[in-house]
Amino acid sequence: MIVTKKKPIEEILKFLGASSRIFIIGCGDCAAACKTGGEKEVIEMKAELEANGKIVTGWAIPDSPCVASQIKLQFAKNKKAVDDAEVFLVLSCGLGAQSVLENDRNKRPVYIGCDTMFGSILDATGHGFFERCAMCGECMLNITGGICPVTRCAKGLLNGPCGGSNKGKCEVDKDKDCGWILIYNRLKDLNKLDDLKKIKPAKDHSKVTRPREIILG
Ligand code: SF4
Ligand code: SF4
Repeated sequence: MIVTKKKPIEEILKFLGASSRIFIIGCGDCAAACKTGGEKEVIEMKAELEANGKIVTGWAIPDSPCVASQIKLQFAKNKKAVDDAEVFLVLSCGLGAQSVLENDRNKRPVYIGCDTMFGSILDATGHGFFERCAMCGECMLNITGGICPVTRCAKGLLNGPCGGSNKGKCEVDKDKDCGWILIYNRLKDLNKLDDLKKIKPAKDHSKVTRPREIILG
């Protein structure tokens, strides 16, 4: 799940500038769950743009598996409204917006109406989003009891706590659990405390040289 947050309408209008004919693209997957790019938010954005003198030529909400994989299909389904637009406004993560850019043969401007925050898990209520993986390219979960130190420790420490933890809470944010206390308790439950003595080398950042690509054969 990629978590997004809506940009203020003033910021969106500033970037749209004098562009008047806009096609809105939402996202029926992650952004819908975050309430930033589902049908309700797209319709609200259409109303806000129209109240500010813009013409919305149409809108589409690509569905699962990911907005980025569904853009071509949505362009074909909404051909007239897409052709009538001067610019696109995308209510999704940065992946969706860049996918629109890469699939528009006319290379029109693409603006994004959301800030992309982090990859998360979702709790059972559907309202809580929690960062649990930073996609570091060298997963350590096998020796940290399945708890990620990169995301659960505010300092991203790989070899144990900083010493600032107080009553199980993090010194950086007292409302949050210390990731390394969580790891310690989990390893203790698993009878694997010896894993704490396994020194983790500094991360090999060459493994995350950008842009990362994998093409399945
Ligand atoms: S160590 Fe943490 S950030 Fe890295 S891949 Fe594993 S879960 Fe993701
Ligand atoms: S208190 Fe714990 S979670 Fe917070 S920075 Fe130190 S080791 Fe990391």
